[in-house]
Amino acid sequence: MDYLDRLNDMQRLAAVHTEGPLLILAGAGSGKTSTMTCRIAYLIQEKGVSPYNILAVTFTNKAAKEMRDRVEQLVGSGLNMWILTFHSACLRILRSHADVLGYGRDFAVYDPADQKTLVKNICKDLQIDTKKFNPAYFLSIISKCKEERITPKDYPREYGTDFREEMIHKVYDAYETQLHKNNAMDFDDLLLNAVRVFEQDEAVLLKYRNRFRYIMVDEYQDTNQIQYTFVRMLAEEHRNLCVVGDDDQCIYQWRGADIRNILEFEKDFPGTKVVKLDQNYRSTGNILEAAHSVISHNAARKPKKLWTEASGGSRITYFQAEDEREEANYIASEIHRLTAGSYTLEEGRKEGRKFSEFAILYRTNAQSRTFEEALSYRNIPYRVLGGLRYYDRKEIKDIMCYMRIVQNRADDLALVRIINEPKRGVGGKTIEKLQTLARVRGESLFDTLLDKDVVASLSAKAGQGIRELTEMILSFSEESGNMRVSDLYDGLLVRTGYMKMLEDQNTVESETRIENLMEFKSVIYDYEEEDKDLSLSDFMERIALLADVDNHDAGENAVVLMTLHSAKGLEFPFVFMPGMEDGLFPGWRAFDRPDGLEEERRLCYVGITRAKERLWMTSAQRRMLYGKIDYTRESQFMREIDPKLLEGDGVYQKKPSAGMFRDGARAPEAIRPFDQLKYARQMTKRNAEAMQQSAADSFAQGDRVSHPKFGEGEVLEASGKILRVRFADGDKKLAIGFAPLKKL
Ligand code: ATP
Ligand code: MG
Repeated sequence: MDYLDRLNDMQRLAAVHTEGPLLILAGAGSGKTSTMTCRIAYLIQEKGVSPYNILAVTFTNKAAKEMRDRVEQLVGSGLNMWILTFHSACLRILRSHADVLGYGRDFAVYDPADQKTLVKNICKDLQIDTKKFNPAYFLSIISKCKEERITPKDYPREYGTDFREEMIHKVYDAYETQLHKNNAMDFDDLLLNAVRVFEQDEAVLLKYRNRFRYIMVDEYQDTNQIQYTFVRMLAEEHRNLCVVGDDDQCIYQWRGADIRNILEFEKDFPGTKVVKLDQNYRSTGNILEAAHSVISHNAARKPKKLWTEASGGSRITYFQAEDEREEANYIASEIHRLTAGSYTLEEGRKEGRKFSEFAILYRTNAQSRTFEEALSYRNIPYRVLGGLRYYDRKEIKDIMCYMRIVQNRADDLALVRIINEPKRGVGGKTIEKLQTLARVRGESLFDTLLDKDVVASLSAKAGQGIRELTEMILSFSEESGNMRVSDLYDGLLVRTGYMKMLEDQNTVESETRIENLMEFKSVIYDYEEEDKDLSLSDFMERIALLADVDNHDAGENAVVLMTLHSAKGLEFPFVFMPGMEDGLFPGWRAFDRPDGLEEERRLCYVGITRAKERLWMTSAQRRMLYGKIDYTRESQFMREIDPKLLEGDGVYQKKPSAGMFRDGARAPEAIRPFDQLKYARQMTKRNAEAMQQSAADSFAQGDRVSHPKFGEGEVLEASGKILRVRFADGDKKLAIGFAPLKKL
């Protein structure tokens, strides 16, 4: 029982309060998760509760695994307890009882790719043009409906019956029918159907109610309505439900989390024992103060304050870099300094710290790139948690393959990767056949695709797709010598349909992909700035080196990089929070939703409270993000921190007018931050349009034209699509439709 001795009085009270509803509502690092773990051990060891009767749910696989490991350390392994995520708990239940809903038990679980195929087929049947209405569009609406429990039958009542809604209704209806017919469920169904089983078959509900006498939910503030119903149905009778959370850490409202679930828990379960923990064991005093000063700017919030026995510790270092590269170098050099052995512990020992004690927590994925480069440069091992390294991301690899094939048409590997991306109706089998043919003929795959007879032997759709692809690649590669790499990039993004594919999907994931692709423009601009005549092959050569730094030890002892969102529940001795700028954090999107800014502020609170020993907050006065250089303003969250808690370069530059923004939740319209991402997307389209626009103009010998790179010139010769133009620095051959040419 010594684990109980390690708890403080309030924590112990919560751990041994085993009967009846229990709400542990407490701030970050107060030991909520630890208490819950001890409570499980206590139930088993002291109360003689069988592990079979316990259900503990949390949000991520990582958190579930960590909790399982900690419980096993206390009570021994091999107990096969249900310590799971919501989805896996529901899946297990459905494996035994899906027949209630008319499913076979061996039902399939459709992943997003399967879902898309299904919707595509449905659209075909319903004669819906998927060029106008992307399958992903329907899927995101369907998912939202399932979350809100709006069935196809309810749909017209909820959303009306105009043309568009009627169409969505039909797709949704067919989708559900088909899933059922295929004996399949999607991810949303797992939660929803588990609840439905409980509703429709009382015997099953009673079975699980009887089994799960003790239910615990961590991070309860981020549950949505269906998760709430699931828990509530199971716990209604025995009422031994313990939920743990922190309303200040609710960061998933944009994905349907409902903060009311935790705030109204006492109402839902009368007689709830509420335990508030107010001692923080994680962070130093200064870190805690800073977190508090930020979060207390939220108007919609139950006041609470944490305290700690720990000393004040170091102040928070606030570093304002010139630009994002200096910011990344600064962070890398700090990590280098502290791991190299110059860090003095309080007892006066000098010791190098481990890389794994450092975390860099950023607001958007696209920020990771500069850190990855700065860390690689110093040979500091790193791991991108809950995500891929920048150059390993699918969209980055895809677009680089397009650039590779433009540069070198013999690059079969690159071609195979993008031949059906976006979809051109070229299936895996066809690709294999084409590759074999190319091998037999001893030529490149691209050359094989140029053979009209080969293309004619394919399906009409695939044939058409391949013709368009090869034509496009040929003309891009002919023109690549006369184009700036950045223009080529914009052109590729738009002409290949890649950008449109992502835009049509209109999901959180596809937005992230667009952000990453836009950030690639920063990479290109960086190189173009250094080398005005940067050619595609120069660029590809340098990028190949960068993209290939993965022979790092990415094992245990590595700096961790991740988004603030995925850092929830974790802790690190040293934390860096870069990008403390208005528009980035809080992100400009925050201003679109009424509670948006408050949710960003909670995210800031989550970030600060991940740090145990030291925290760095940094910003750049000039930032290139998504290829656009912008002068930034320090984040309003920085201004909300008491300057006494800060030290470093950034502090002295604080403007005296900072106080004018301390007006709580609402930011005045005037400080609405500049939307770099939107700008970058517009520029990409505009550039691509300018190129295409040139195709609409007719050029003749003697015309005056202008080109963004070569300036003004005169058309010497116009034959078909190719123009020969005399510019100040020589004659150029330019293809109409690929050169951003304007007739004057
Ligand atoms: P979060 O809100 O971030 O999820 P939490 O409330 O779940 O935080 P834990 O992760 O359980 O907090 O604990 C934070 C840290 O405090 C851990 O390192 C844990 O070991 C330590 N801790 C918790 N309770 C005590 C205690 N009574 N004595 C000493 N250390 C403790
Ligand atoms: Mg926790």
